[in-house]
Amino acid sequence: MLPKSIAATREALDSGKMTTVDLVRGYLRAIEAQRHLNVYVEVFDEEALAEAARQDEARSAGAQLGRLAGVVISIKDVICYAGHGVSAGSRILEGFVSPYTATCLERLLAEDAIVIGRTNCDEFAMGSGNENSHYGPTRNAADPARVPGGSSGGAAVSVQAGTCLLALGSSTGGSVRQPASFCGLYGFKPTYGRISRHGLIAYGSSFDQIGFLAHDPADIALALEISAGADPYDGTAPNKIVPPYSRPPASGEKKKIAYFPEVMASDGLAPHLRAVAQNALDEFRNEGHEVTAVTFDYFDYVVPTYYVLTTAEASSNLSRFDGMRYGYRSPEARDLQDTYTKSRSEGFGTEVQRRILLGTFVLSSGYYDAYYGQAQRARRLIRDQLRNILAEHDFILMPVSPSLPWLVGEQVDDPVANYLADIYTVIANLAGLPAVAVPTGEIDQLPVGYQLMADHWREQDLLDFIRS
Ligand code: GLN
Repeated sequence: MLPKSIAATREALDSGKMTTVDLVRGYLRAIEAQRHLNVYVEVFDEEALAEAARQDEARSAGAQLGRLAGVVISIKDVICYAGHGVSAGSRILEGFVSPYTATCLERLLAEDAIVIGRTNCDEFAMGSGNENSHYGPTRNAADPARVPGGSSGGAAVSVQAGTCLLALGSSTGGSVRQPASFCGLYGFKPTYGRISRHGLIAYGSSFDQIGFLAHDPADIALALEISAGADPYDGTAPNKIVPPYSRPPASGEKKKIAYFPEVMASDGLAPHLRAVAQNALDEFRNEGHEVTAVTFDYFDYVVPTYYVLTTAEASSNLSRFDGMRYGYRSPEARDLQDTYTKSRSEGFGTEVQRRILLGTFVLSSGYYDAYYGQAQRARRLIRDQLRNILAEHDFILMPVSPSLPWLVGEQVDDPVANYLADIYTVIANLAGLPAVAVPTGEIDQLPVGYQLMADHWREQDLLDFIRS
């Protein structure tokens, strides 16, 4: 049995019950045995084994290893790792090799984390089911007929299926929390700017954050502590002190928890998931926390605001993929214009093209103010009201997703149904708030959970609360 936390990994290695090479071999066997889940775009098997051997040798020579020695991680295929491929799940970046390493990953590597491979995801992180990947869908290990969530679906299944200990994902609108919840894991998205975005392929730059998926929230706390903080390569990562997130949690404090009755009463919310959120609220109340119903006025505007702003940002961010500088170039192209058009038409999948078109439309001169400007104003209202609530309460508790993992293929022809399913997660990204998905078990053999959000920079409170 492979360990399911950093603490258990350390124990196994320190006691000599296992070597790092045993551990990596175990994960590689799990990958091999579960190829049908389509979790990895690429496995760095030889490299991971070589690094494990180096660590074992160093350990037996009595050398001091980093805080993540023996910790095997996966990286979502949107995170750059020097000398390794990165494709954002897209044909347009097929064969592209990253010239540098993302700051977040660099910091984890400096503490001796071992990267086992890069995981499948929705193309350019656009999706909620991992069905928009050029490499085909990833499948949920709890039921391979179902999606693992998205866009960090491969990341979630990499941990769920026991192929690594911790996964790096990214969240623009829920891509860490929702797949974590669909796969029975903790999924944590920090405050916007807490972790540098340098080396994370951009989707919606004012939303994007790297996040972590794991079985044990203590592991997330340590990964965050190591990777957070200022970075000269990302001006949105401020020079704000990084607290010792991984220290033993302060427990016993009574918290104020807000919830939205409108959400709990919503017809669109699956009854099982309503019950999960309701049970969590009841339990917290019984434990002596103050649980209060609050009003949020803008639910109807959340999804439209998110999709206007993120598609606008994406249309600009993705303009650099033009067949000239990176990856795929159409072999049919004859002149410059033709190269742009054909490379982009052949290189991008349907969903990405749809979003580029929508983004270009909302930014076009005649419509800019009606859509983009209006959405920016709506974002401000949404953010201000949430922050006002969080000035009075420690956390907001919500479901993660309105539905349980759906069947692969069931929703692919209905983009709007997919967009609407993001309603409970995108609000944290619109407001830049830290948020975590907490697993609570299974219903009908499918993982379920709920979500907690806190005010900006209150990661420590969130992590302490879910750990105590
Ligand atoms: N499902 C959302 C979208 O498609 C969120 C994706 C994400 O967080 N990367 O945009």
